[in-house]
Amino acid sequence: MQKEDNLKEVISHAKEYGFVFPSSEIYDGLSATYDYGQLGSELKNNIKSYWWKSMVQMHENIVGIDSAIFMHPTTWKASGHVDAFNDPLIDNKDSKKRYRADVLIEEHVNKYAAKIEKEVKKGIKRFGDDFDVDQFKATNPNVLRNQSKIDDIEKRMAETLGNDDLEGVRNLIIDLGIVCPISGTSNWTEVRQFNLMFSTELGSVAGDAAKIYLRPETAQGIFVNFLNVQKTGRMKIPFGIAQIGKAFRNEIVARQFIFRMREFEQMEMQFFVRPGEEMKWYEYWKEQRINWHKKLGLGEDNYRFHDHIKLAHYANAAADIEFNFPMGFKELEGIHSRTDFDLMQHEEHSGKKLQYFDHELNKSYVPYVVETSIGLDRMFLAIISSSYKNETLEDGSSRAVLSLPPALAPYKVAVMPLTRKEGMPEKAREVMETLKYDFNCQYDEKDSPGKRYRRQDAIGTPFCIMIDHQTMEDNTVTIRDRDTMEQERVSVEALHGIISEKVSMTKLLK
Ligand code: ATP
Repeated sequence: MQKEDNLKEVISHAKEYGFVFPSSEIYDGLSATYDYGQLGSELKNNIKSYWWKSMVQMHENIVGIDSAIFMHPTTWKASGHVDAFNDPLIDNKDSKKRYRADVLIEEHVNKYAAKIEKEVKKGIKRFGDDFDVDQFKATNPNVLRNQSKIDDIEKRMAETLGNDDLEGVRNLIIDLGIVCPISGTSNWTEVRQFNLMFSTELGSVAGDAAKIYLRPETAQGIFVNFLNVQKTGRMKIPFGIAQIGKAFRNEIVARQFIFRMREFEQMEMQFFVRPGEEMKWYEYWKEQRINWHKKLGLGEDNYRFHDHIKLAHYANAAADIEFNFPMGFKELEGIHSRTDFDLMQHEEHSGKKLQYFDHELNKSYVPYVVETSIGLDRMFLAIISSSYKNETLEDGSSRAVLSLPPALAPYKVAVMPLTRKEGMPEKAREVMETLKYDFNCQYDEKDSPGKRYRRQDAIGTPFCIMIDHQTMEDNTVTIRDRDTMEQERVSVEALHGIISEKVSMTKLLK
């Protein structure tokens, strides 16, 4: 299946089974805004829980907060968002389509990167285990030629964007011969900066005085509470503050389902460290976060790091964890060394000291910050798109299956009576009663067993339990595994242990 088709199928599957709906669909939807349905919200809650537990519950020195979406407007002046939270946009005059200029260039760069990957794959195929990828990349003329093109473009991009040289960005697009994918022409407008923050008015007085913003990131709610939490929680450096919450960005181009939304959710953690120790912690969190992802079993090849060449105004190092989405490798999470930029700025704008007294060093300082920032919706898309499969079975029939990581599946178990007679529904309810306190269960008695199994496969339920004639005699049931489709007969008493073993989050956290 083509990867783009995979995205289309995922979107329609997500809608058909109640995971994700277009927002206000009866009014034809609102662009780049989505609602999570009955199963989507369960999956989302489970992702949040996996993140929160791994951050807060597993780290004695990390605590979580829940700050307001609205913040004092000076927050955004201090953070730099009012002046610098811009994307460079460019329009194609023929197609009238709007693009992010930096994304157009990055996609062009990706073509050369893909060529290099192709060469490497050829080499691996030819020479197998003996193949030295690093040496090959350092010596192969084709690779070197493509790499030097990438380096040149990235250098020019960093220079022009870094200096706010919008004409230079446009010239780069023209020089590279980048054309609009719709019109096929390079009839481009000027490049303009566009601020991504949504604003609204507080109270009944309109005008600049009452202008406030919908937060474009959750991090600032953590920075302004740094001392509140440190003092009341008696936190000692190094320590972290975590938060999950909505963020809003008026994205210029938002065409990729829940990958780029105007209202989305972030899971962010700011880790406060001694100045000078930030690089150690930056490396530490890069490793922690990639491991958190890999534990889910979505395929280790689906992740890669991408180091930023153009650093944001607040960072001294930054990397993305990219995931192999249906649209290709794209940012899923960012790990940023934010220096003392934010706390310093808030000190300056608020006039309040935001310092920490380090008893070991016997001095006060403004801590440095390493942040991990992941989009919950992108994580949702990563999981659902890589778990979705349309399988052809041995008997020639097909099934759509979501092989979700069991700990994240909306329902862990479906309990089914074989027929609606002979006391089987009552027995099924009895079995469900023993499980529902620990596992989200679904009761299903409608249609043939085959159809019911397919329904559960399609929503990713790891286990189906069938109550049949034999159950009524010896208190055993069959338990069917979603992935192998194999059924095993076990006693009702054994169910809790079998299910727990597979769906528990403990394995992911250890
Ligand atoms: P991009 O370059 O894709 O616009 P970004 O670098 O601006 O992303 P950050 O500001 O680092 O993103 O935000 C942290 C995380 O929040 C991202 O890694 C991503 O997972 C998520 N995120 C950012 N913007 C959006 C959006 N519009 N829709 C959904 N998730 C988003």
